[in-house]
Amino acid sequence: MKTVTKLFLLSSLICHLSSSLQAQPDRWQQRIKYNINVNMNVVTNRFSGTEKIEYINNSPDTLNRIFFHLYWNAFQPNSSMDVRSRELGKIFLTNRRGDEIQDWDSRVRDRISKLKENEIGFQNVKSVKMNGVEQKLRNYETILEVKLDKPILPKSKTSLEVSFEAQVPVQIRRSGRDNAEGVRYSMSQWYPKVVEYDYQGWNANPYIAREFYGVWGDYDVNITIDKNYFVAAGGDLLNANEVGFGYEAKGVKPKPVAGKTITWKWQAYNVHDFVWAADTSYKMITRPVKDGPLIRVVYKKTDSLTDARWNKCADTMAIAYPFIAKTFGPYPYKTYSFIQGGDGGMEYPMATLVKNASIGTFVHEWLHSWYQGMMGMNESLFPWMDEGFTNYAGMRVVCAFRNIPPTIYDYEYKGYFNLARSGMEEPLTTHADHYNTNYAYNNAAYDKGAVFLNQLGYIVGDKVLDKILLEYYREWRFKHPNANDFIRVAEKVSGLELQWYKEYWVNSIKTIDYAVGDINVVDNKTQITLKRIGKMPMPIDVLLTFKDGTKEMHYIPLNLMYGEKMAEDTVTRIVHTEWKWTDPEYNFNTDRSIGDIKSIEIDPSQRMADMNRSNNKLVIPD
Ligand SMILES: [Zn+2]
Repeated sequence: MKTVTKLFLLSSLICHLSSSLQAQPDRWQQRIKYNINVNMNVVTNRFSGTEKIEYINNSPDTLNRIFFHLYWNAFQPNSSMDVRSRELGKIFLTNRRGDEIQDWDSRVRDRISKLKENEIGFQNVKSVKMNGVEQKLRNYETILEVKLDKPILPKSKTSLEVSFEAQVPVQIRRSGRDNAEGVRYSMSQWYPKVVEYDYQGWNANPYIAREFYGVWGDYDVNITIDKNYFVAAGGDLLNANEVGFGYEAKGVKPKPVAGKTITWKWQAYNVHDFVWAADTSYKMITRPVKDGPLIRVVYKKTDSLTDARWNKCADTMAIAYPFIAKTFGPYPYKTYSFIQGGDGGMEYPMATLVKNASIGTFVHEWLHSWYQGMMGMNESLFPWMDEGFTNYAGMRVVCAFRNIPPTIYDYEYKGYFNLARSGMEEPLTTHADHYNTNYAYNNAAYDKGAVFLNQLGYIVGDKVLDKILLEYYREWRFKHPNANDFIRVAEKVSGLELQWYKEYWVNSIKTIDYAVGDINVVDNKTQITLKRIGKMPMPIDVLLTFKDGTKEMHYIPLNLMYGEKMAEDTVTRIVHTEWKWTDPEYNFNTDRSIGDIKSIEIDPSQRMADMNRSNNKLVIPD
């Protein structure tokens, strides 16, 4: 395992060298190394632990304080998470099926307010020492401030020692004990975690509902627990031959454990978080993936039917990987684990906690490795760059699997249209925890975020979009990209100016609506008028279909793009002069006579999120 780590180091070093040659972004990143030791008491559901942290301040700034996340303090009555959820419960909405629902997360509701002392979660930091000296602490519920006696200077390395104790909450959201499926421990957001400091400063977001962000680093995690517990984690197990449970090498027989507990030694390299789970009735199946990771699927022992479902999920991931690697870039770690736990599907580096065996969830959660995992964008500020991109990628994988064109997959478009019509839409720039409703957050992050990419395929061409996705992966993985970073990649790869797309789609809630207007005969040519009704401008594809069965694709570039996309198919294409974004109307001609035309249709691919498609197509009666 060490060798692999070193190989990875070497390859990332090579990437780094080649990247500097190609003038790639060199935004500084903080770096961390955690050495965590915890001792879990499976009777009291409490554990104590220590963290030895090596923190490298690569920023140009002097840090006078440092923050930690203490996520589990959210699982206490009257916490911010509890109050926020109960407040959202007062908002009533109609869901897609037409039922009236409360806006709170149906998993959280008012459950936190009812937790008893032995059911709440807590993370209590007893002491933090910097370079051996005890530091002053101040608690802000889910955030701990450490006031440093000496500042951390730019480009310097600091050692921190943290001593803490915690109680695993009854599972409310993501983490916790005894979830609905009976998994004993779903251990996410479980240790005092250093808050990321980046070019925007400290990101000390209290834990209200969602979204995670962390420092790139390496983890050594030693978990001491009752020897009957099977532990799964997002990492590599260093003492597999000692613990067994199916992790051991072929032919190795682990020695019987003398005491009541055993220590599991895990390691993860170049990640921003570490998750684990434990249960006494877990079993594990594995799939080696050709030129990819070893897939582990860990779930509670079950009946043969459910067993077959878990196996099918594992098989499907192994089959899907070549398409995923080709389209989004290779997965860089040695293993990936699907672990039964949590309350749905939640992504972590090198692992996910999933409620049950669902291929859709498996695909989605693993694809998070490319966005939440490898890009590690600030999910509070850019949740759509995680959930939206992951959703889009999942759609691509599912469509490739079913051999259908991805553009017909319109669930996300409907979600976005509903949001835009609801009057509750807020711009994608809204902080994930600060949307007025969960509804607006969900449809913005998941749906409008997915449409962002699919619609970009319309603007630059789908083949160019594929190149953009790979270039984004190449340039920005392990660097916390933001929205502008992505747009810059798209601009460089496509050769088109795209700032306007970000300004409208991300920073505003303006919508798109184009219509086919009048048809006239001018100088023996047929003149067609198009109207821009929505506020957001777009380049326009218009397909003319003639009665003889022939077709012409008319392409009208947008002046803000300073260029045009390449033809996307074999239909004759006529490129016109730019449509200035200020003009509400645009006229163009065809040499064909008016009597030849069967229909005129704006964006037949329907990748453009036109709010009113009923005025996009004109069929001329015979
Ligand atoms: Zn997701």
